[in-house]
Parts: sequence; structure tokens; C-alpha cells
Amino acid sequence: MNQTLAGRLLVVEDEEHLAFSLEFNFEAEGYAVTVANCLRDARRHLDEASYDLIVLDMMLPDGLGIDLCRELRVGGDHTPVVFLTAKGAPDDVVAGLDAGADDYVTKPFALQELLTRVAAMLRRQRWNDAAPAAGAVEVFTFGDGNRVDFATREALAHGEPVSLTDLELRLLRFFSERQSLVISRQELLEDVWGLAGDTNTRTVDNFLVRLRRLFERDPSRPDHFVTVRGVGYRFVP
Ligand code: CA
Repeated sequence: MNQTLAGRLLVVEDEEHLAFSLEFNFEAEGYAVTVANCLRDARRHLDEASYDLIVLDMMLPDGLGIDLCRELRVGGDHTPVVFLTAKGAPDDVVAGLDAGADDYVTKPFALQELLTRVAAMLRRQRWNDAAPAAGAVEVFTFGDGNRVDFATREALAHGEPVSLTDLELRLLRFFSERQSLVISRQELLEDVWGLAGDTNTRTVDNFLVRLRRLFERDPSRPDHFVTVRGVGYRFVP
């Protein structure tokens, strides 16, 4: 092989035309791609091999993509998951993030957007796997019984254990290092997601909804993850 492998992807998608297009384009970018067209097929591939990332459609002939995602997370598997959801189904986004997905793209999507997100996520994964910077905060506590241990990834929300994805951990670390500072959505997309030049700031808001639901006493009136109108967010300990 004369080309460096960009990563091993499992693409779970039942629309044949889209699955083919994803396989073709990811392979052109140097990824090794396995396609599954239903949950059963996906589970079989996951039993037989390991992947760097899973692209997971939401609506599949034998169930929901988020069920597979939840199964993986419950089993302690943190393989990054980017899920594909239909436009006009905002509840699916929240459900997907709750199930432990790392990121999402809304159908119909521009192929380049998905390629960019997958590449950014794998880059982040490599940073996460690297040793933390000297002097980095390892345990972050705030509010009422909220505690995140970045080294072990153990987290408590109101004293109860919760499971966080790599992206959520990264986002929390970013806020923990910039307490009380105003942070723009653009800055978050660039520094946390690794998506320079991406203008899809709604992504950021959906992740903040999820963090508030986990850590705020009243998610509709946040004390910690505070919106700064027209700009972004500010973390208040
Ligand atoms: Ca589908």
C-alpha cells in the first residue's frame, strides 16, 4: 500500500445510492470503508473488526441507528459516531446525542460537510489519545454535584454517573479552561470541533442543549452554560 490509511470507517446506510456514494468518496480520501445496510449487518461487522469511526444513519430497515449507538456506549465502546438525520427532525438530534453519538449531519447534506466532520473528528481523536498537557486540569467540579474527571472520563451530574462522549469531554475541558469568559460559537467550532471556516453554528447550540440537560438544575434557566446573546456562551462556575 503506497498511501497512508486515513482511517477505517463503518458506514451504516440503507439507501443504496447514498451508501455507494459515501463508500466511493471516502475511499477516494484514503479511508478503508465497510458498508452495512441494516443494524444486523452493522453488529456483525462490529463483532468481526474494529473501526476508527462509524457513520450511522438514523432510520434503518430493522430499527434506529441510535439504538446501536446506545448499545456501543453501554458496552464501553467509545468509537466516534457521526449520525445522519433527516431534516426537520430536531428531536432526533437531541436523542442521538443522548444515545452517545459524537456529531451529526442533517440530510440532505453536502458530501464535503460530512468529509470535513469525519476528518476533524479523527484528528480530535488523535489529540485525545495523546497525553494531556502538563498542568492541565484533570478534575472539573462545578454547581451542585457536577464532576468530570478528564483522565478517567468518569462524570457525575447532580451526583449521578453519566456517560460523556469525546466531544462532550473536549467541550467541557474547553469551558473549564475559560471560566467566565465569553466564547463565540465560531471559536467553539474551530477549537473544539476542529472545523475552521464552518458556519453551521446550530451544531454548537445542540450540544449546549445536551450539556444543560445533564448539568443544569433547570435547563431552561441555565446557571452555568449561559447564552451570550448574538455571540455565544459563557461558562459560570
Ligand atoms: Ca435510512
